Amino acid sequence: MTIDATQPYDDTNIFAKILRGEIPNKTVYEDEHALAFHDIDPKAPIHILVIPKGAYVSWDDFSARASEAEIAGFVRAVGHVARDQGLVEPGYRLLANVGAHGGQEVPHLHVHLFGGAPLGPMLA
Ligand code: 5GP
Repeated sequence: MTIDATQPYDDTNIFAKILRGEIPNKTVYEDEHALAFHDIDPKAPIHILVIPKGAYVSWDDFSARASEAEIAGFVRAVGHVARDQGLVEPGYRLLANVGAHGGQEVPHLHVHLFGGAPLGPMLA
């Protein structure tokens, strides 16, 4: 089910539980600002989700409310994970779904990182 991206942050969402260590995940990277882990239902040979540690519903919420340090830290973390996974050459795809029309299902900002094969015109 998709979400309303303007809703207040709900700390019972699945990624909030992952951040609190309440449910397991396959972590590939963690720092002060971000956590990256394998998607439970991968849509590409490599499908990693990168999430900020702060309580942000969506890209819209994050870009409006997050501090400069959080934004810089998160963007750097996404780039670090892509490099660490060896994806820069031959390339990869980033995707952030926002709200109902974007197809967002989990109400904590996440950037999908897809790679490991030619991805075709679209992946959601
Ligand atoms: P969205 O549609 O919100 O952009 O993407 C949500 C993503 O989270 C989906 O790709 C889905 O497979 C993934 N996902 C949902 N629940 C879990 C979970 O419990 N663990 C992990 N690792 N990924 C999840």
